Amino acid sequence: MEQRFDVGRGVVVLERGDITRQDTEAIANAANSTLLGGGGVDGAIHRAAGPKLLQACRDAKRTLPSGLLPTGQAVLTPGFRLRAAHVIHCVGPVYAREGQDAPRLLASCYANALRLCREHDIRSIAFPSISTGVYGYPVQEAAPIALAAVRDALEANDTPHLVKFSLFDDTTLEAYGAAARDLFGGRAGRGS
Ligand code: ADP
Repeated sequence: MEQRFDVGRGVVVLERGDITRQDTEAIANAANSTLLGGGGVDGAIHRAAGPKLLQACRDAKRTLPSGLLPTGQAVLTPGFRLRAAHVIHCVGPVYAREGQDAPRLLASCYANALRLCREHDIRSIAFPSISTGVYGYPVQEAAPIALAAVRDALEANDTPHLVKFSLFDDTTLEAYGAAARDLFGGRAGRGS
């Protein structure tokens, strides 16, 4: 069952699910700086999108200084075989490496992904829980940062209108649910 919150001019939905199956206009990927694919959600997105996604990432790499996407930044590619028309590849912080900069860099992933939505008139996007897998960000710390970054964007802009979090396991869903109730308070709507 999804949890739905009215936030700013838009809606935030939390649900347990596989992001590769989302039908939002865009999905976000928790990529790494090389943009060449990896494990976790990145590998799942590449498998579901098909080999053209890797080629599009290679093309995007060529436009980047030193061929790497810096931590906290985001780039857009097509979604190829995915239901989502676009993939926005974000590089989250490696928790143990970034220290005090980790919260700012994590928030920057979400802010940059949502800016790309605005620039490309993308009205709906689904995010995974960036950095809380292999990159080791404790989900209890990451969830309020992710949701506050989304809230700031939805309060300031009309696009996107729908921001989903497609969360892979119960622990992650519970952490985001608690943070959302805390941040969005009485605005919780009914699930469907
Ligand atoms: P990172 O390297 O940014 O930590 P990971 O892919 O290791 O990225 O993990 C990020 C989150 O994505 C974790 O909560 C992981 O369980 C989750 N995840 C893995 N596969 C999927 C999927 N298909 N859909 C949604 N979330 C997924």
